[in-house]
Amino acid sequence: MTFEDLELDEELCHAVADMGYESPTSVQSLVIPHAMDGRDILASAPTGTGKTAAFLLPVCQFLLDYPRKQPGSTRILILTPTRELALQVYEQAVELTKHTDIVSGVITGGINYGTDRETLSQSIDILVATPGRLFEHIQNEMADCRDIECLILDEADRMLDMGFRTIVNQIASEARWRKQNMLFSATLEGGGVSQFAKDILQNPEVIEA
Ligand code: AMP
Repeated sequence: MTFEDLELDEELCHAVADMGYESPTSVQSLVIPHAMDGRDILASAPTGTGKTAAFLLPVCQFLLDYPRKQPGSTRILILTPTRELALQVYEQAVELTKHTDIVSGVITGGINYGTDRETLSQSIDILVATPGRLFEHIQNEMADCRDIECLILDEADRMLDMGFRTIVNQIASEARWRKQNMLFSATLEGGGVSQFAKDILQNPEVIEA
């Protein structure tokens, strides 16, 4: 299978080629078609499987298919457990969208509040965030969740281990107009992840890469 077979636009295929990706990894070829159909996704995919592009490519394709009609707030929200992971996901989003007008941003603990304010004042299409810092901005009304169309939880098992379940559920309830959700976890075993998945996802396609 090739990236063209996944029916991704030329701008995205060009970017993956620039990044040296020759063909989709297993999790990418399993997730991308269902995600592009608008399904919720519950995927077990450890780091190193190409999970980041598995969720970024279908949301990028969605943003290309349905461009923003007017400036507004975040459309795709990706939550990660750590600052390091947020920055890695953000960097990959920037690389994958470099031939498009899609705008990405990142909000994490450890970045100064002035920078966050600048980020949140733009029309961000894809926002990558750690839950604690984002929730602070929701509470002080600097971040707005009403335009979020897709919510993605990356490394959900680690988010649970770090005690983020309540805060993630609160953020999800703020993003109440969303139409799609994806949850990626190194493992789907254990009651914690399946309860978390039930909190967030609706009738997901389950994918074990
Ligand atoms: P991830 O599991 O998303 O952390 O990705 C692990 C590494 O694989 C990252 O360095 C990616 O840039 C790389 N990668 C992702 N997809 C592909 C692909 N289709 N072909 C080659 N490398 C990839």
